[in-house]
Amino acid sequence: MRTLIRDCNIASPGFEVKHGSILFKDNIIYSILTPGESLPDADLTINANGLTAIPGMIDIHCHGRNNCDFTDGDVEGVNTIGINKLKEGVTMMLPTTLTQSEEALSAAFDSIAHYNGKGVKMPGVHLEGPFINPSEVGAQNPSFVRMPDINLVQKLNDIYPIHKVSFAPELPGGDSFVTDLLAMGIVPSAAHSAAKYAEFKRCYAKGLRNLTHFCNQMTPLHHREIGLVGAGLLHTNVFAEMICDTLHSSPNMIKLAFKVKGVDHMILITDAMRAAGMPDGEYDLGGLPVMVSGGAARLRENAALAGSVLRMNVALKNVVEITGLPLSEAVRAGALNAAHSLGYKNIGRIETGFTADVALIDDNFIVHNTFVDGEMRYSLD
Ligand SMILES: [Zn+2]
Repeated sequence: MRTLIRDCNIASPGFEVKHGSILFKDNIIYSILTPGESLPDADLTINANGLTAIPGMIDIHCHGRNNCDFTDGDVEGVNTIGINKLKEGVTMMLPTTLTQSEEALSAAFDSIAHYNGKGVKMPGVHLEGPFINPSEVGAQNPSFVRMPDINLVQKLNDIYPIHKVSFAPELPGGDSFVTDLLAMGIVPSAAHSAAKYAEFKRCYAKGLRNLTHFCNQMTPLHHREIGLVGAGLLHTNVFAEMICDTLHSSPNMIKLAFKVKGVDHMILITDAMRAAGMPDGEYDLGGLPVMVSGGAARLRENAALAGSVLRMNVALKNVVEITGLPLSEAVRAGALNAAHSLGYKNIGRIETGFTADVALIDDNFIVHNTFVDGEMRYSLD
């Protein structure tokens, strides 16, 4: 199956072309054509009419959408999230679980294992908690917090593969937990943590290279104790997820992070909860009531931010507007860096030989089409 997208502007890391064309052969990008080159035959030709093609985005931290949450343990909910994420130009995501009981997590993994695969790809789970610091729970349910436990990770991994575990590195056994996760091929990431810089360094020495929702629920930068925020800024080789909705971090903090770290280790995430794609109102997050209004989701109890209602295409728009980066650079944070952080080699670029995961967006970052493995799975009209 050969699919041709003609007349699109291409914005891929380190590469831009106006009015080019992209040819997919099955699930692979087969060739990129510049203006003037004769167009090849294809089984399906789509005229992009000047829309911009970007690498399909990868959301490695997302709990839900359209009133569904992965931790509901409901297969229909997983299918609903998978199909609706396409509207954001997302082609791959890591379904992300909340700090919950072992039973609830097992049920969530089981539902993800039965995903119908019709929307975005979900190759593995991001296990957020339950191994977090009780003093930094944020909107995670404190009732289910526990110490790092590789046996629980193994049990869940047997149900469906885990790609990433977010945990507090300062907890007892934190550094050996990093070693154990890496041995299983799982990416360890610091989250919901009161770690001092020295505690981070202990885990860094074992291979920790990721920070979950950078700046949120982690030790802030102080000039005598730089904490995890300081660690992320200092170690430019550490990947930092960031919720770029301008609420979880101010525009100036987003600008600072991109400026100091450079674009190569910044990863856009939504951290979206079930109210993403839904009207304002009251929702549930892991058993905690949440009020959603004006683009913010907050716990009813204390008004703490409780995940986001952000969409990836909006995150990308925000970053372009805030940092002034050209789109062809900003898209690194939307796809390629996430792929690198997880060890994927051929995802995140519009380049010959890469996986045919592509989104077509307009000048307002509205997604018109999303292609997963070369197949058009979403169309705005
Ligand atoms: Zn979190």
